[in-house]
Amino acid sequence: MKCLMCEDGETKVTDSRYLPDANIIRRRRECMHCSFRFSTMEEVTILDLIIVKRNGKREPYSREKLKSGLLRSLEKRSHTTEDYRKLISSVEAEIQKTRKNEVTSEMIGQIVIDKLKNFDKVAYIRFSSVYYSYSDISEFIDELSKLKTKKTKKSSN
Ligand SMILES: [Zn+2]
Repeated sequence: MKCLMCEDGETKVTDSRYLPDANIIRRRRECMHCSFRFSTMEEVTILDLIIVKRNGKREPYSREKLKSGLLRSLEKRSHTTEDYRKLISSVEAEIQKTRKNEVTSEMIGQIVIDKLKNFDKVAYIRFSSVYYSYSDISEFIDELSKLKTKKTKKSSN
């Protein structure tokens, strides 16, 4: 990579770190010509992942679809764009850990639910009520009360 400052120096990577929570790789670079130092971020992108839907249909994984599903649950909740990005990255990092080329939409739903639980309780309830399509209201209340108990036991995460 060319130096951003002197534009003709080649840079060397002095440190390279994978940040699993954000699913990015950060590289520290230094110009061999003018010694300018900077860092670059590489976002890890999922390639060649196939989603098997409930009806058996297969389709390529799409970050956009995941995003729009999440945004629906997070509607009118106050989170920054950076929060959203981290959330999506953490879901993708979890998918990647499975090391599979095909995952079911159920599995992704479950990962999303697990992540939302810590990210935003309201969104968690919204998402899981759609996802599980609670058969009756008592199930839903059960889930709500579980959350409340947790909260009173331990306030921080
Ligand atoms: Zn330079």
